[in-house]
Amino acid sequence: MVATDPRLAVLAEDVRVSDPIGRLSPERTAERLGVRIRHAALGVHVEALTVDGVIVLNEQFRSPGRRRFAFAHEVGHLLIERGSMPWATRRTEERWADWFAHECVFPRHWLHDRRWEQLPLFDDSAERETVGMHLVSGRHADTIIRVDDTIICGACGDRQLFAGCECDHYRSDREALESLPSMRPTSELNVNQLRLFDAQATDPFDALWRHLVVASPTKLIAVSTD
Ligand SMILES: [Zn+2]
Ligand SMILES: [Zn+2]
Repeated sequence: MVATDPRLAVLAEDVRVSDPIGRLSPERTAERLGVRIRHAALGVHVEALTVDGVIVLNEQFRSPGRRRFAFAHEVGHLLIERGSMPWATRRTEERWADWFAHECVFPRHWLHDRRWEQLPLFDDSAERETVGMHLVSGRHADTIIRVDDTIICGACGDRQLFAGCECDHYRSDREALESLPSMRPTSELNVNQLRLFDAQATDPFDALWRHLVVASPTKLIAVSTD
């Protein structure tokens, strides 16, 4: 449930500078934070790192959405280093950096405020994973879905962050993965239909879930966090 911590929204709103259509602008955000960005070949495993206040993004990662997420994750570390997340400990730092990054890439309140028109603009696979993360985290109980072949756990996100979390089973078993509910591409979302069928009184997260998540033969899996 902590991925939905409202303090993350406050922090993200404070540092996030967007491009004209609302996507996170790494360049302008870096400028606001007083850090520089460089692009370099970092191999196949490292997406980004921070060296002496310079955020280095892996130019070998082709997906612009993934680079924006990687940048936001590094900003998360930077904010922790600057003391903006005093609740983050050495043990929990990676989680907070990830959760902050999701919030920074696609603010959760856009879903809460029914900013549906933003969704089709965020159809890069990494961005869809973030939308999926918002959908599954703190819904009723946190749940697990898949976005293409990526497991999205409401507690962990796209990688396992809690030892012993239920999502581990799905990450290591192809058949189990395919039994999960899956999220359709945000570009397929019919915004007009969504507006038409979901009255203001309905929970916007439930409304979006009904439009975007394809049911699976198995029931939803609740996960718990420490
Ligand atoms: Zn990290
Ligand atoms: Zn998990």
